[in-house]
Amino acid sequence: MVHTLGAEVSSGRGRRARRPRPAPQTDAPAAVALTRLTVIPAEASQPEEAAADLERTAADPEAAEAAVADGLRTVNRLLRAHRIATGDPYGHEISREAAAVARIGHGGGEGLADGRWEAAVEVAPPERGRRRAEALHPQERLAGMLAGREPIDACETLILRARADLDHERPREAALQLRAGLDALLAELERRGLCEAVITQNVDRLHRKAGSEQLIEVHGSIATASCTSCAASYELEQVESLFDDEGIATCESCAGKVKPDVVLFGELLPADAMAEAERLCSGADLLMCIGSSLEVYPVAGLPELTLGGGGRIAIVTQGSTPYDSDAAVRLDGDVAEELQAVLAALG
Ligand SMILES: [Zn+2]
Repeated sequence: MVHTLGAEVSSGRGRRARRPRPAPQTDAPAAVALTRLTVIPAEASQPEEAAADLERTAADPEAAEAAVADGLRTVNRLLRAHRIATGDPYGHEISREAAAVARIGHGGGEGLADGRWEAAVEVAPPERGRRRAEALHPQERLAGMLAGREPIDACETLILRARADLDHERPREAALQLRAGLDALLAELERRGLCEAVITQNVDRLHRKAGSEQLIEVHGSIATASCTSCAASYELEQVESLFDDEGIATCESCAGKVKPDVVLFGELLPADAMAEAERLCSGADLLMCIGSSLEVYPVAGLPELTLGGGGRIAIVTQGSTPYDSDAAVRLDGDVAEELQAVLAALG
């Protein structure tokens, strides 16, 4: 029943049939690399009674799922007892997710344990929506990851590293890991189609590296640099070769000074990027404001556009902001950790 490394996965799994379907009967069960767990109730029932029971359960997907959950509870109770008795910290409970296949059926006790039954039905795994709550249980999550059914997101790995850095009193490294973790997470939301665009005041190209495609950099980016005299544009990689003996980047065509395309203090924000940010915010259903005190204009005016367009805002940042009372969601913890919990809840 439990999927182990190298085992074949039932081909019907991806189709998510709602109703339990008859399991094929074979003369000799094929040997596969699976750990099979069979839960047999203590009180024996007559074959006719068992057959009628199975028919009733098979006709009702919820009853079938409840029967599987019942069996799983028994198994997990045993696993816990085994873990305690053997002092093995690595023995983990199993989630419904970890099962390659779940069957309910009836037959002779000894035969059942061997995979030989009188009749049995395969119960399709629960729908995605019903699995969401499960995603938050660490042990079941772990079982799912070990079984290769749950992805390990880059952001989770980075946040764990940040915790390790904090534990070892390396706050700067931790801050970098958290920043990278947050960028990976936003890119993940975009890949899942849950985020239309990222508007950022950061100039360090990390969002792009993390995989964000729709990126509005309202303070520009160090990815390119321009000549202040003739406006010739250079890629970051080219800039290296422009430095003269005094360490000043000089334009190849006019010898003017070359500076990165980022907004320095006191300069105006790039009009195109700001206009695009305003357009996106006016039409957004939800604007997530992450890690910003929302106090410096013009970027601080963006939430107002979303609210004005009938959208909602969610604020994830430590410390208060002028929009706190307008926010549909207000999270005050570490931004990367808060958003990781959101991602886990989305399943
Ligand atoms: Zn120039």
